[in-house]
Amino acid sequence: MSEYTAVIGLETHIQLNTRTKAFCSCKADSWNEPPNSSICPVCTGQPGALPSPNAEMIHKAVLLCLAVHAEVNQVSFFDRKNYLYADMPGGYQVTQNDQPIGLGGYLDVEMDNGRMVRVRIDNLHMEEDAGKTRNENGIRLIDFNRSGIPLVEMVTKPDLHSADEAAAYLIRLRRLIRWIGVSEGNMEKAQLRCDANVSVAPAGSGKPGRKCEIKNINSIDAVRKAIVSEIERQTRELEAGHEVEQWTIEWDNDARELRKMRSKENAVDYRFFREPNLMPVVLSQEQIEAWHEELPELPWVRKQRFITDYKLPVYDAGILTTERDLSDYFEETLNFYGGDPKRVSNWMMNEILRLVNESGTSASGLNIRPRDLAEIIQMVDSGTITAAVGKDLIDLVQQSGKAPSRIAAEKNLTVVSDEGIIRGICEKVVSSNPKEAEAFRAGKETLLGWFTGQVMRETKGKADAKLVGKILKSMLTGR
Ligand SMILES: [Zn+2]
Repeated sequence: MSEYTAVIGLETHIQLNTRTKAFCSCKADSWNEPPNSSICPVCTGQPGALPSPNAEMIHKAVLLCLAVHAEVNQVSFFDRKNYLYADMPGGYQVTQNDQPIGLGGYLDVEMDNGRMVRVRIDNLHMEEDAGKTRNENGIRLIDFNRSGIPLVEMVTKPDLHSADEAAAYLIRLRRLIRWIGVSEGNMEKAQLRCDANVSVAPAGSGKPGRKCEIKNINSIDAVRKAIVSEIERQTRELEAGHEVEQWTIEWDNDARELRKMRSKENAVDYRFFREPNLMPVVLSQEQIEAWHEELPELPWVRKQRFITDYKLPVYDAGILTTERDLSDYFEETLNFYGGDPKRVSNWMMNEILRLVNESGTSASGLNIRPRDLAEIIQMVDSGTITAAVGKDLIDLVQQSGKAPSRIAAEKNLTVVSDEGIIRGICEKVVSSNPKEAEAFRAGKETLLGWFTGQVMRETKGKADAKLVGKILKSMLTGR
């Protein structure tokens, strides 16, 4: 394989999370709605229906352009891409052809080993989605709920060279679009999907091979598998002395294999022309700059800041900046807490991430707020509660929404440091476990930890662990 190199370009479709569709007032997010419940004459392509562009779509498309350093065109146009397909009843798709909203730009992708790959962007254009067809008992059904949903198609230059790089690019892009709030980027809901252009040529030949296009890849896993098998297929052809034919290929998600759709010889001519019912999109420089101001600190910038300013390990900084509201949660907690950032990071990564996973919401959706978490860490620091109780308290705050100090008082969770009480419990534990006590005296000193555990269990984790250790040791050794 090493004497061949692969060149890959990706065309990614990003569903913008607007309230309404691209050119009508139908609800855009109709994932859970019954088929054809969110449609109108505009998004079903009825003759004479007049579209009007969604301002939120343009705003979010521009935010995305700015986030990838693309140049925003102050004047861009909508065009008709003509083709006949059952899920496109007007006979055309509204898209942007020769003068799209964004040109150029790049996304820097970090590979697992830390290597950076700069992926240049050719253009970003707005377009509407098509409907969805489905076969049922030999009948073809069409659902137009998706029809007219606003998309941005982001087209890269052929700067990727392996399936892993393509997957890393998509993961990075997904993180970005979620972070800046323009898309949910959920691949299972087809909010993010891509076509891959793959060509393989002998290494060092200097000229690219003939490219094949893989359509409609809808998961990170499928991106990897589809590209790997296409690189293998083209390499086999070249090794057998054949020329690679220019194909359009479809990734079959059920069969988990590639399927040829058509040869490029019968490629479609889309006969693009300006959409006569839509005005050009005209943006002032002031407007673009104002939107630029809105753009939040990007995840990789924030990650670096966490490493530099808070001295967090690279691993922690990476985890805490996977989602924007998780990293906001961290910084808010740190502001309330005022102590060592690494300490907050530990509680976040162990306890808050656990709650996020368990509850299926994001950090901002949790009942326990940054102020509560900061208070709990402070209570542990000051010795008011043990770390074990602190963990329980996090769950109790999450369940009840009450303040940590109130729960600690109500449930009597503060540390037991009364020597008399602890000594009594230690005596009970030692006397009811004579065999272990004997083993300890015979030299099995690791049993001290076990005894401490028993006492902590008796006190439901509330005993001052240091004091317990001290009392047990003197009790067991008789010194
Ligand atoms: Zn509509």
